[in-house]
Amino acid sequence: MPDFDLTPEQEAFGKVVRDFAEAEIRPRAEAMDAASEFPIDLVNKMGDLGLLGLPFPQEVGGGGSDYLTYIVALEEIARVDQSMAITLEAAVSLGAAPLVYWGTDAQREAWLPPLLSGERLAAFGLTEPDGGSDAGSTRTTAVRDGDEWVINGSKAFITNSGTDITQLVTITAVTGRDPDGGLEISNIVVPSGTPGFVVEPAYRKMGWHASDTHGLTFVDCRVPAGNLLGEEGNGYRNFLRILDEGRVAISALGVGLAQACLDECVAYANERIAFGRPIGANQGVSFKLADMAVAVEAARLLTYKAAWLRDLGRPFKRAASVAKLYSSEAAVTATREATQIFGGYGFVDETPVSRYYRDAKVLEIGEGTSEIQRILIARDLLKEASLGR
Ligand SMILES: Cc1cc2nc3c(=O)[nH]c(=O)nc-3n(C[C@H](O)[C@H](O)[C@H](O)COP(=O)(O)OP(=O)(O)OC[C@H]3O[C@@H](n4cnc5c(N)ncnc54)[C@H](O)[C@@H]3O)c2cc1C
Repeated sequence: MPDFDLTPEQEAFGKVVRDFAEAEIRPRAEAMDAASEFPIDLVNKMGDLGLLGLPFPQEVGGGGSDYLTYIVALEEIARVDQSMAITLEAAVSLGAAPLVYWGTDAQREAWLPPLLSGERLAAFGLTEPDGGSDAGSTRTTAVRDGDEWVINGSKAFITNSGTDITQLVTITAVTGRDPDGGLEISNIVVPSGTPGFVVEPAYRKMGWHASDTHGLTFVDCRVPAGNLLGEEGNGYRNFLRILDEGRVAISALGVGLAQACLDECVAYANERIAFGRPIGANQGVSFKLADMAVAVEAARLLTYKAAWLRDLGRPFKRAASVAKLYSSEAAVTATREATQIFGGYGFVDETPVSRYYRDAKVLEIGEGTSEIQRILIARDLLKEASLGR
């Protein structure tokens, strides 16, 4: 029989994170959004709470929790502020994870401690100006010159890459050709401040205003040969694994956002009076609430299931795409309907609903667009059928 309950530990930690988000993030969320302010102190505080190293083994300095606990924590931050949630997600799932999974002891010792404590941040540079979906067509190159890699190229839309506490970015770069003539792609760590590593000005974005996003340029940028992360030529494969986990995490952002809409809308539908009665007394409004509640629950179940499969060590690639696709689209729909339920107040920044609406869209784009998720799910279905499973 499936067990749909969280463990007492998961419940309790989720409550701790909820209280933290309500006390520390909610009072500042609107102002940070309006000023596009990246709050280093909140990153440090999330570190104090153990969030930055949560799902990593204790042997490397992590919190040793299961993945589901991390997902529950992300959902709680996402319920209050998407910018802080993506900052956390990118720091853990994209920034630190490659070092935990493929770093040598020396690399982990050199870079991990301040990342897992929340004093510093790492970024993940896969997307390039010429393409994100077709991530295997990387153009950035890294050429070996003696004891160094010489990197040339550029990356686009890289989260956490230009803050005052950014320590490094791990990039994909072409390091040669494989025997079939295809691109050999490797992962290389580029510390912030390395000469030739230029952080471009922050993007002006539709949403996620308090999250840090930059293009990056590398011009004859030299890093030590020892900054190669994992085996030479395994970089693309490694980053795909990172994206599978990241998709479950982005799905948690969608769950948190849809839940936030539901919370706001149920309260507003009871208190806003039109034609002499609460607007929630109209079926046209109440049906929106019911549909939103169904979507929140379905998104949460898909997300938790993907995390559960990952915790059991079972294949979770398709489950991650299913969860990410459903939750991100559910969040976009929920924010659109929430704005409608709030009427004019949903369009102005006096309520959080307009911020939710602006923050939602990118969930259908980052870490694989909805189209890419559909391609991956359909490809897996067809492969399974062809194998007669
Ligand atoms: C705020 C923000 C933060 C980000 N953070 C990071 C980060 O930290 N690290 C990182 O590496 N990247 C990051 N990204 C990049 C993100 O992952 C890419 O934007 C995304 O993968 C899409 O790539 P693209 O923008 O190049 O779109 P394209 O790949 O050019 O796609 C354009 C459109 O064409 C569609 N399309 C493309 N190919 C197909 C196909 N075969 N079939 C059907 N439709 C197709 C896409 O679905 C999309 O709708 C971030 C993006 C944003 C906006």
